Parts: sequence; C-alpha cells; structure tokens
Amino acid sequence: MITSLAYLGIKSPNKDEWPDLVTKVWGAQLAEPGPDGSVRVKFDDALWRLQIHPGEQDETAYIGWGVDHEEDLHALLKTLADLGVAAEVGSDELAAERAVNRIITFTDPWGFRHEVTWGQSHIACSFQPSRPISGFVTGQQGLGHVLLLLPDIDQAHEFFGKLGFRLSDKIIVPGRLYARFYHCNARHHTLALGQCPPGVAGLNHLMIQLQSIDDVGLAYELAEEHGVPLTMTLGRHSNDRQFSFYHSTPSSFHVEYGYGGLEVDEEAWVPRVYDRSAIWGHKPHPSGKGRPMGIMHQVP
Ligand code: FE
Repeated sequence: MITSLAYLGIKSPNKDEWPDLVTKVWGAQLAEPGPDGSVRVKFDDALWRLQIHPGEQDETAYIGWGVDHEEDLHALLKTLADLGVAAEVGSDELAAERAVNRIITFTDPWGFRHEVTWGQSHIACSFQPSRPISGFVTGQQGLGHVLLLLPDIDQAHEFFGKLGFRLSDKIIVPGRLYARFYHCNARHHTLALGQCPPGVAGLNHLMIQLQSIDDVGLAYELAEEHGVPLTMTLGRHSNDRQFSFYHSTPSSFHVEYGYGGLEVDEEAWVPRVYDRSAIWGHKPHPSGKGRPMGIMHQVP
C-alpha cells in the first residue's frame, strides 16, 4: 500500500518563473534540468521531488506515490483491477525519468494521473539548500501533502482507502468548506480531499514542511519582498496544528509552507471533526486576490 508522497509533476507555460520562487523564497535546491528542460526541485537527498515540465497550459501531470517494498506494487495492481481501474506497469525509460526503480501508472475516476513507485533514487549528503534554512521534513513522511478538489469526496473516501489512505479527520464549515484528511505515514495528512462543484477536479495545493518555525517566518518576509502573491496569511490549522502560510505559484496551484504538523500514532489515533480550518490566522491576503483556486480540469 502507498506509504508516502514521493514526487509531484506539473506542466506549465510559466516553467521559467519557478527557479526564483524555489531558490529565493523556499530555500530548496534546483537539480539538473530534465531532458525536456523541466525544472527539477530537490528538498532532500532524493534526486528531485517536484518537476515542472514545459506545457501549453497548467496541468497536474502526475502525482507520484511511494510504497515500502517492491512486492507492494503487485498487490496494488490487484487492488486497482478489483476497483475496475486500468493500471499499467511503466517502462524502464519512465522509471529512469522519474528516478525510481519500479513504477505503475493509472488514472483515477476524477482524471488525475497517479504513479506508484518503489526505489526512489537518493544520493546521501547531496542536499544543499539555496539559502540558509534548517531543512525540510521529508524522509519517511515523503515530500509533504497535496489537497485535491473533487466533486464527491465521500465517494473518493472508499477509493483512496483501498490504496492505503486512512482518515485522520474532517473539517466541515457548513456552506463553506468540506474536507477530509488522510495519512499513510506519521505525517498527519499526506492526502486531503476538498469538496468542489460538480464536473471539475483539481490540485489546490502542495504543502512542504520546514524543521524550524523561523524558516516559515523568514520565507513569509521573503515572499512579500519578492512580490509572490500570498493567498493566506500566517496561521495555525485546527486539525494538524500546522503553522503555515499559503502562496500562489507561477502555475495556478498553491503552496503551503509550514512548520510543526502533528504526527499520527496509528494505534491511538481517533478521527475527529473540526468546525473551522484555522485556530487563528490563515486570512485571505490582498496580494493573492483573484488567483485561481488550483489547476482545475474537467472530470472525464
Ligand atoms: Fe494543507
């Protein structure tokens, strides 16, 4: 079963605007560009975990997940077949491009392409932040979390449950927000699902987590300084207690830059329901006004 978010792939006409955000605000590292000129971003000793390919329009190209053992991919192929989802074993060329040893691919009922992988390439002691930061919380917890917008998240609960995602909690603000949060490792959530109108689906945000609260405060100032559109001010989430802010990226989706997310003890965890998303803060910021809610696509 899936145990982490390994990587994320985006297509965008604004690929060349990414290096500034990555190096001047995040403190992440630019890896060697991909064969198609993609921008590859490194957060730890994995070769890369975010890749922005050139494209005609913003597109969620693929969401890359990791499993712990090679055999888990066989089990997953069977699970997907039982769900009536056509999955393919990816070629060696594809595995090499993604810097993994084994890969299977499938498209979910909402039109997202998923890649489930084993054996992501790491080079020990290779991560060099582009500005002084304490580092990103990755390792067993993977890259971070993604929030997908789907028109029927209750239906999706069953689908993603079979892939290994366990409910952490829900946030329900009547008439405003309905979201479900799922873990597959110690990170409070690796996958979040937010309810959106019928007919469309999309990638709302990627969360990356820092090891120090000061990294977040400093990045907030740097984002303001470099004119990055902020979509939500500093605040603390009610459920995972993440201290974070949100900014828009050159490719329509958002990034949550955070610190201090809760870790789940699977044995003792009891899912709860919250009636607000933040304890304090996370207010809309004027600079992010009018930014799209994410990279949206039509549900097939
Ligand atoms: Fe988040």
